[in-house]
Amino acid sequence: MRPRTSNSRQTSHYSPRFAGKKRTPARRSTVEIHASRFINKAIAPVDDTPYAPTHLFSDFGLNPQTIATLGHIGYETPSPIQDQTIKPGLAGKDVIGLANTGTGKTAAFLLPIIDALATSRTVQGALVLAPTRELAQQINDEFRRFSAGQKLYSALVVGGVNMNRQIREVQRGPHLIVGTPGRINDLIDRNILRLASCTTFVLDEADRMCDMGFVRDIRKIESELPRKRQTFCFSATMTTDVKAIVEEFMHDPVTVSVIKNETNDHIEQDVIHARDKAHKIELLLELLRKDGFDKVIVFCDTKHFAQRLSDRLSKEGFTSEAIHGNKSQGQRDRALRAFKSGSVRILVATDVAARGLDIPNVSHVINFDAPKQYEDYVHRIGRTGRAGQSGQALTFVSQPGASAPKSLTARHHERPNRSHSVRTEPTQNTKPSHRRRLTGGAAAEDRLVRLIDTL
Ligand code: AMP
Repeated sequence: MRPRTSNSRQTSHYSPRFAGKKRTPARRSTVEIHASRFINKAIAPVDDTPYAPTHLFSDFGLNPQTIATLGHIGYETPSPIQDQTIKPGLAGKDVIGLANTGTGKTAAFLLPIIDALATSRTVQGALVLAPTRELAQQINDEFRRFSAGQKLYSALVVGGVNMNRQIREVQRGPHLIVGTPGRINDLIDRNILRLASCTTFVLDEADRMCDMGFVRDIRKIESELPRKRQTFCFSATMTTDVKAIVEEFMHDPVTVSVIKNETNDHIEQDVIHARDKAHKIELLLELLRKDGFDKVIVFCDTKHFAQRLSDRLSKEGFTSEAIHGNKSQGQRDRALRAFKSGSVRILVATDVAARGLDIPNVSHVINFDAPKQYEDYVHRIGRTGRAGQSGQALTFVSQPGASAPKSLTARHHERPNRSHSVRTEPTQNTKPSHRRRLTGGAAAEDRLVRLIDTL
């Protein structure tokens, strides 16, 4: 732990010069991932040996109302991260939680927070930072669910939506603030949010927040918090940035790790060779017509392409929604609700938009574009095979002249009720003459979009 001075502002590395400027995502190496890392055919059977928790929820000393609520919503036993975090959390200790999404980490930090707030009733007594609006929304929803009947209030402070409503919510005096670092800072800069009474601080998915370029924002926010406080930091990986944050922000932390493998070994993983993007679209359509592809997330590199692909799938008769950074918060929420409820079968997403989402029963993750970082791959495929279920992840890899491996095509059966013939050769596009001349990646994307339209 680095020494802190009494004025925490002085310890901040934040420079006001950057306030409000566009964040630059941290640079990560982009060495192409070898296709063999996307294959795992020898899947381990789903380990159905239940974790033997060392506590029951009733052992932690949580208030009776919280225990009753947990029973009501069907939480019978603590998950491993909850089993090991709630006790030190209730004792006021700083906790580093090494955990992926889907492990129950939200309750692991929210339950101790609810317990403390129910006693202290401190307005703006706790702050949770999350990398994406969706994750922040989920945490806020979970807080409201777990704290039902305790007259505890929260405010969601995220970018991409009108600020006025959030300002009104914050001014109403909520006990918990959940938000994304950029918007939280906006409200601090406008003197609407003051964090002097905030004695619990949570960094959820700290590695992702750092990757997304939020380090400066996080440091600035931390400099506004009282020095004497409790800090939780959850992360799937201990990157250099996360280590630095932990050293600076935390005091004598307890570390709880529930990370088992680099990737979920109960997820069947395979690659599909495709000649080019047009071929990928054909193969994707073919896959989506097969049995078993009931709830599918398709990952793409760019927002623009994610939208076009989703539109294309809708035109083909699939129920599909896109979720990416160009969509308003309302549109994203609606798309997620539709996908979760099953009224939409396919969700086309970019990495950032899909991070941390908790969507049950996803049958397949399809990486239309292979991820640039292996870490992103692990996060993507973690959307399927949740809560001990098995799942399948398929990644398109470019290999000129190649086609889908027989093993893949043989494994799935055609849907009997659909008889769509799929062309095996990509259609060569006709070139519209009126288009502005584009170069490099923009030209490639433009060609692709036109190609999709003609397929
Ligand atoms: P999280 O990792 O916090 O996003 O949680 C993943 C999913 O597991 C969510 O749907 C939670 O509601 C659920 N969950 C978390 N803890 C428990 C528990 N102890 N018992 C049952 N379900 C849980």
